[in-house]
Amino acid sequence: MKRQPLEPALAEIERQHLRRRRATVESYPQKASHTQVVVDGTRLVDFSSNDYLGLAAHPAIAAAMAECSARCGAGSGASHLISGHGREHAALEEELAAFTGRERALLFSTGYMANLGVVTALAGRGESVLLDRLSHASLIDAGLLSGARFRRYPHCDATAARRLLADGRPETAVLATDGVFSMDGDVAPLAELAEAARTHGAWLVVDDAHGIGVLGANGGGSLEAAGLDCEAVPVLVGTLGKALGSFGAFAAGSADLIEILIQRARSYIYTTALPQAVAAATRAALRIAREETWRRERVLALTARFRTAARETGVPLADSVTPIQPIPLGSAQAALAAQLSLREAGFWVVAIRSPTVPAGAERLRITLTAGHQESQIDALVESLGRACARAPAS
Ligand SMILES: *Cc1c(COP(=O)(O)O)cnc(C)c1O
Repeated sequence: MKRQPLEPALAEIERQHLRRRRATVESYPQKASHTQVVVDGTRLVDFSSNDYLGLAAHPAIAAAMAECSARCGAGSGASHLISGHGREHAALEEELAAFTGRERALLFSTGYMANLGVVTALAGRGESVLLDRLSHASLIDAGLLSGARFRRYPHCDATAARRLLADGRPETAVLATDGVFSMDGDVAPLAELAEAARTHGAWLVVDDAHGIGVLGANGGGSLEAAGLDCEAVPVLVGTLGKALGSFGAFAAGSADLIEILIQRARSYIYTTALPQAVAAATRAALRIAREETWRRERVLALTARFRTAARETGVPLADSVTPIQPIPLGSAQAALAAQLSLREAGFWVVAIRSPTVPAGAERLRITLTAGHQESQIDALVESLGRACARAPAS
């Protein structure tokens, strides 16, 4: 046997306009929010972060992190089950449980790992995992890793999900969905999915990475907005690196659910605990997100402003009322050309291509944050109008 050559693989990715390249974002010392980035020496307005509430660069949150690391050190030193579980972790878990109205919460190092841990703890060989076709990659990988029978239903089609559940083979199932879809910004039909899961006695897992902090009267996310409690949706996964501006993730639910995750979730057990300073930063972020309700109101108002202006300018929009605003462009080439033209106009917006979205569904993914100014949004829409008019036919 010999090794697979890499050069032809890279050449083929390039030929399809699918080569991914990283930009090194330079820090910008005076920035009070993440709406400005410097890439290759040029200052750009960032419309691509998930920092919806404008907290990632908040001085009080950075100070909480610095204060804690001075006290506790940089590293946690071990996994949670050995000696890495500290008081900041425990306090944050209690606060997250209270914030989501659930008995307990469990911290994970990332949302990717939370989904792997939750799904594999609840389903295995001889069981079923059912997913929305546009579920986040981490849920798909979790379904594959679980070894369960893995099936997907058409996007946001609760009737199809119900049909798969009614199939009844195998008997036990986990139904999992994004709350807010990460690339489309639309919200899952959560009440219908909850009803279907309850009728068939299946676990329902909602990954609310993009809803937590943004939706719901108190920022509790898409479940709060839909009025669904722990009984309707027994497993909630949330991330802390998006609206909360920090890093990490959590699962929340009943005390028994958390207890079983501690026993079974391998992505929880076999990994180093988050630094306590990260937990301290998240606690500060959670406090600000709860108290400063204007942040939530502002990002949603700016989203509405963006949509109105885009419609008037003839920029194509998708069916999303969340701060995730996809601009459908139909091909990788068109999406890349639009990205480049926006960059020349001073905006950092990223083209989303296959395999993150299906081929033909390439787009720009624009995200709004509470830190943006009205004038920045108006200027963005103007440039988008020009970029879309110039987009090559796909
Ligand atoms: C970002 C994201 C994740 C992964 O969270 P990380 O903490 O970044 O690993 C999981 N699910 C969805 C829907 C996401 O958008």
